[in-house]
Amino acid sequence: MVDETDSYAKKAIQSDLPLHKLVKLIDGLDENSVSKIRARILEMRMNVDLSSVKELGSKMNFAKIVGKNIENPVGGVSLPVGVAGPILIHGSVADGSVYLPLATTEGALVASTNRGASATTASGGITTSIIKDEMTRAPVFKVSSVGKALALRRWVAENLSLIKEAAAATTKHGQLQSADCYIVGTNVFVRLSFTTGEAMGMNMVTIASERVAQLIEENTDAKLVALSGNMCSDKKAAYINSILGRGKSVSAEALIDSKVLKEVLKVSSSDVVEVNIRKNMLGSSFAGSLSQNAHYANIIAASFIAMGQDAAQVVESSQGYTFVEDRNGKLYFSVTLPSLEVGVVGGGTSLAPQRELMGLTGVYRCQEGKRAKWLAEVIAAGVLCGELSLLCALASNQLASSHKKLGRAQ
Ligand code: NAP
Repeated sequence: MVDETDSYAKKAIQSDLPLHKLVKLIDGLDENSVSKIRARILEMRMNVDLSSVKELGSKMNFAKIVGKNIENPVGGVSLPVGVAGPILIHGSVADGSVYLPLATTEGALVASTNRGASATTASGGITTSIIKDEMTRAPVFKVSSVGKALALRRWVAENLSLIKEAAAATTKHGQLQSADCYIVGTNVFVRLSFTTGEAMGMNMVTIASERVAQLIEENTDAKLVALSGNMCSDKKAAYINSILGRGKSVSAEALIDSKVLKEVLKVSSSDVVEVNIRKNMLGSSFAGSLSQNAHYANIIAASFIAMGQDAAQVVESSQGYTFVEDRNGKLYFSVTLPSLEVGVVGGGTSLAPQRELMGLTGVYRCQEGKRAKWLAEVIAAGVLCGELSLLCALASNQLASSHKKLGRAQ
């Protein structure tokens, strides 16, 4: 196969064939063989060695994932996965003792989140709540005047059941909840909000929104400019997601025992309150940040990658607010994530390792229909653990020393 791969690669280079057309040239070869030839072409063209990438690719079944999760495959990458836990949760959906898988190369992240898990479990656990659950898409339409924009808003309000019917024709699980119009001059952003069952829902909602946009164009003189008008707001940091929510709006809270603060976290309650005010609140506000937290993105990114979520949605899923209070020496600690976008079907959740790792969160012991919410609550609880541990490390001045110890081992 090595020689054959080389000769196919040379042939493709000679005919200057684009990498995505390789399948057509070499009729009858399976996707994995084609991926190896593609990688070989790149090795020759760029004078690089991709042997590890090819080796990892040989463990994947590209026939199953091309056309669904990837195009132009050349192999794979590996990431180490650690776990934080057990994390004890008493949630509106998630319940009991669970683990959070984290795929990361940042030393100290898992250990730190794990420390937060021990501290919260020793203090009786974490309470989690789903505040809202809707995925959004906001097409932008152009009209000829502000008067026409107001007419479009009126039409949308008066025809909501018709709009819901059109959306429902495209999906069994997505249900349109609302259609809110935002007007800027002759532009109307129609922000459509859907429940999406067990899916994160972005494809589902986009397909339904296209049907709604057609209906609007058929019945008004508005013209669709773009199916996504950025008021959605997908994969961008935006206040609208913090205020109106996107995906799961979820909170996690815990009351940390004063003995645990002293013995496990080496801080007092008032130390943590002060760090939160001066760093998360004042520092973030002074810097112009949309969020007030220390590092939600660390836990969101690592858990999203481990469990097949859309990694680019780490942007808005990491928006959020840490709120803490001293309660007679105990520490009330909460995290609120208004736009945590997760699902247990669709996207990368169908990949085998990602599904296996999702099992560690206990999601499969939950009844079908509530699993995406369960997953959101477990991730929010993990965010609380990571946030608590980091704020305590900062309050006790242990941040640099723990990273020196865990992130720079020889
Ligand atoms: P999807 O896999 O595109 O859609 C979910 C599918 O699962 C639907 O066909 C749905 O059927 C079906 N389904 C079966 N059981 C379900 C259940 N219990 N609950 C919900 N759905 C169920 O996934 P998605 O969540 O909509 O979209 C995720 C993907 O979108 C990711 O790959 C992400 O990277 C990508 N993405 C797309 C865009 C975009 O603009 N298109 C933007 C960002 C990300 P029914 O629809 O018939 O109910």
